Amino acid sequence: MKLSGKVALITGGGQGIGRGIAEVFAEEGADVALNDIDITTTAVNDVVEWIRSRGRRSKPFQADVANRLEVEVMFEQAWREFGHIDILVNNAGIETIVPFLDLTDEQWTRVTDVDLRGPWLCSQVFCKRAVAENRKGNIVNIGSIQAAKVLPGRTHYAPAKLGIEAMTRNISAEMTPLGIRVNCVHPGFIATNMTAWILNNPQILPDILKQISSARPGQPREIGTAAAFFASEEASYITGQSIHVDGGWALK
Ligand code: NAD
Repeated sequence: MKLSGKVALITGGGQGIGRGIAEVFAEEGADVALNDIDITTTAVNDVVEWIRSRGRRSKPFQADVANRLEVEVMFEQAWREFGHIDILVNNAGIETIVPFLDLTDEQWTRVTDVDLRGPWLCSQVFCKRAVAENRKGNIVNIGSIQAAKVLPGRTHYAPAKLGIEAMTRNISAEMTPLGIRVNCVHPGFIATNMTAWILNNPQILPDILKQISSARPGQPREIGTAAAFFASEEASYITGQSIHVDGGWALK
């Protein structure tokens, strides 16, 4: 098992890709502090129970990743509960689709706050504690194919996701010398609630699948296996890198 003895905090872990990452991490031996903005849902409870049923520890932690106070309280509580945190997965994200000329200040701010400022905030709080305790650590950021590909209506989402790639390199340069590697996984078209409107639309789905070499949507656990590799000792000499897990979509 790649992650035996490790504790991972996964943001936005209540469903979708976050759940896929949490499942793979638990199967690889990690205990999981599961963050979501709302931890009262059945979905969040299901993930926690699934992990526990595999013999690993898990507990939900509420926080909006864009809110510094909530993030600080979450890390404090999770660190106390588990004794240490070794891996941070910055997965929480939101996407809205709004034509450029209609985009409001509020829409720009919320998407960039959650998708870019949130990962920065969580990374900083995590790294400060890890460095203070002289612990090694690992950060895996979840970006998007939209760091490489233009899709309409994402003039707020795409820069946030491209920004994650630059942030991965920059935090890596400062933190790897202190023992914390940082890498990024860019998902392509993955079957989750975020993409349900495409999956359920026979007018759009075939066009998208035609652009994907693997000719199918990806599954959340396929992002989980890439994230687990980056977080494991198998990737001990890899840092500051981003990889597309997209069935070949970004190449088209
Ligand atoms: P999803 O909407 O299915 O799940 C996102 C989870 O994040 C939800 O549980 C939600 O409650 C939580 N969340 C939202 N805002 C939050 C906040 N401020 N603080 C804490 N938790 C919050 O989305 P998904 O498809 O699983 O996407 C996960 C990540 O992958 C996102 O960063 C998304 O941008 C990225 N991504 C997804 C796809 C895809 O095809 N699904 C493609 C590229 C990138």
